[in-house]
Amino acid sequence: MIQIPKGCKDVLPSQAYLWQYLEARARETAQAYAFREIRTPVFEHTELFSRGVGDTTDIVNKEMYTFLDKGGRSVTLRPEGTAGVARAFIEHGLAGGVLPFKAYYFISAFRYERPQAGRLREFHQFGCELYGAAGAEADAEAISLADAFLKNLGLKKVELHINSIGCKTCRARYHQALREYFAPRLSQMCEDCRTRFEKNPMRILDCKVEGCKQIAAGAPRMLDYLCDDCREHFGQVKSLLTSAGVAYTVDPSIVRGLDYYSRTVFEFVSDAAGAQGTVLGGGRYDTLLEQMGSKPVPAVGFAAGMERLLLVMEAENCLPPADMGAMCYLAGMDASSRAKAFLLAQQLRGAGISCETDLMERSVKAQFKYADKTGARFVAVLGERELEEGAAEVKDMRTSSSERVKFGELAEYIKRRI
Ligand code: ATP
Ligand code: MG
Repeated sequence: MIQIPKGCKDVLPSQAYLWQYLEARARETAQAYAFREIRTPVFEHTELFSRGVGDTTDIVNKEMYTFLDKGGRSVTLRPEGTAGVARAFIEHGLAGGVLPFKAYYFISAFRYERPQAGRLREFHQFGCELYGAAGAEADAEAISLADAFLKNLGLKKVELHINSIGCKTCRARYHQALREYFAPRLSQMCEDCRTRFEKNPMRILDCKVEGCKQIAAGAPRMLDYLCDDCREHFGQVKSLLTSAGVAYTVDPSIVRGLDYYSRTVFEFVSDAAGAQGTVLGGGRYDTLLEQMGSKPVPAVGFAAGMERLLLVMEAENCLPPADMGAMCYLAGMDASSRAKAFLLAQQLRGAGISCETDLMERSVKAQFKYADKTGARFVAVLGERELEEGAAEVKDMRTSSSERVKFGELAEYIKRRI
């Protein structure tokens, strides 16, 4: 028996309604902010991610699903959504079109990680991208969209943490301060951090090794090194969020896992999901598009992890009720009433009412049991007498009451009762 690859999950029909609910709330919120959907390929040229995501990140260093295709090209299953959207934006010349560009996506993303609750190898994200606007209003709009989405799901205990990691200019001074702090402590830190020290010392702040975390807790804070422009930008973001009623905590420890961020970074965290507390993360990335070959275009965006959201929704008791079975189940006693049920079912479906009949050659009793088990709302049993009268007893499974209804009036009757 061949089993599912490690770190992947099936969504069975009995669970799919949860995903549909999540996606519907996400779409609703994105559309309220006038974002439109974008779809890009599941795989891209490997170089897109090594250049776009950054070769000092965990993603590019350890987690990518990279392989050679039959033509010998190196391709990679997307580990995140931004690089593909940015590529499409550049490739289609959208920088010369209507700005700001506002798009959202649903993707499956792939990272070779150690699977655990809320950490998979194939996982799903809802993300938003806002390109072309440099001002603090864009940061505030993206964060407020994320906040509205989580509120739309009914979540109350997810907290917003924000930080600013400055721009190229002020970060150079900060990197120097970090190196001065970490240099004498490096021998007590993990091997990855020693590489990070050389390539990008800020990455050390994102290390998940306990010993490194403790040392990092005492490191200098970027907020103390922001240049005047970056400090003013951050101040505006905060005041816009306050005026929009979006609660936040400034958290200097947030640096985000991707190389391309600048200025605002943010995470929505929950302790309801266990160890993997970040359900949504994002920020500003003003240099990404330019780095990928475009003219300079400022950008801000975020991505939410759907599996983690479902864990938090369960913990906060925010899952929607399970979906029902067919609106109507038509049972048949014998060959001719089964044939009539088949025909009536077609008519009901044509009138927009979901309807089922028996496909398993079951007894009437067993058909009734099936209708009950699958959550059908109305059930009618057809026999010789019903065929003669052209009417059947329709039972409302919710109230257990029933009524005699003419075949020709079935659709109207059901519509009236729902
Ligand atoms: P983490 O620090 O937990 O590894 P990350 O910084 O790598 O997260 P991002 O690249 O910012 O995560 O992705 C955005 C969101 O996608 C995360 O906040 C999380 O909810 C989700 N996510 C990331 N990696 C995984 C994974 N392996 N399995 C499930 N969800 C994930
Ligand atoms: Mg990660």
